[in-house]
Amino acid sequence: GRNDMTIAAIEAGGTKFVLGLYQAEASGCTRPEQLAKASIPTTTPSETLARAGDFFSEAARQAGEPIDVFGIGSFGPVELKPQSPEWGHITATPKPHWAGTDMAGYYHERFNVPVAFDTDVNAAAYAEFLWGGAQGLSDFVYITVGTGIGGGIFSGGNLVHGLSHPELGHIRIAREPDDPFLGICPFHHDCLEGLASGPAIAARWDSDPAAIPEGHAAWELEARYLARAIAAYVLVLSPEAILMGGGVGMRPGLAEKVCDLVGEELAGYIPALARPGKLPGYVSRPQLGSEAGLLGAAALGLRLCVE
Ligand code: ZN
Repeated sequence: GRNDMTIAAIEAGGTKFVLGLYQAEASGCTRPEQLAKASIPTTTPSETLARAGDFFSEAARQAGEPIDVFGIGSFGPVELKPQSPEWGHITATPKPHWAGTDMAGYYHERFNVPVAFDTDVNAAAYAEFLWGGAQGLSDFVYITVGTGIGGGIFSGGNLVHGLSHPELGHIRIAREPDDPFLGICPFHHDCLEGLASGPAIAARWDSDPAAIPEGHAAWELEARYLARAIAAYVLVLSPEAILMGGGVGMRPGLAEKVCDLVGEELAGYIPALARPGKLPGYVSRPQLGSEAGLLGAAALGLRLCVE
């Protein structure tokens, strides 16, 4: 009915777009109900944006509910400054054809509804805040470790944007002295993403990460580098929790291993994390799991309507 909002949610990734049509009470904060879902491969911008639009047209027609708003959580980098003429665009991505794509504008023009737009990781962080593992927290970090490494920051009760948006995967961390791997980031070589993303693990060990068994040195090194980066986030942002998603990040046992090493990386300097196990679950998997990004996109749309 018309007391409900119908939300078209897009989790726009470099390899696939996940699409969800949701319905939520216009009054606000309960978790939206999913009416339809699909996943399409990310090809060229024009083809991908159009296919996603066609899905929503058809799904809304079948549901008998016109779309009220779009919510998009996108791979980046993206322009988020509301006053910029480039707002809602993908900016300097090395992904062929995608630099300069006006993603928000496409759906605004085609459907004539408002569009909420943020990074995929900020969207996921927002969903975890509303309905997942970060409820009640004012300060936390959501990182995803998979094809790339990225992070959303919730600080003082708000998503952080600023100059552009946080890029937690591209910080440089101290290398292990015996690590000869050069790193694969096209911008920085051995930033965190260059050393510890899924493709970095694959290149370093010449194996699909999913096929590397528990107990292999790969996972010790992975946990070490992630803990080292998280120690830096702790020192700068003082988060109350770290949620770690993504295909690699959600590997069973990894969050626990990283959690134990964060205190060691801080050498006891932060009392709350001074010894392993003192703050169990400080690094954990997102409660919404792989749904966090899509639900977060829906939440951004919902928030735009409620405001
Ligand atoms: Zn980098």
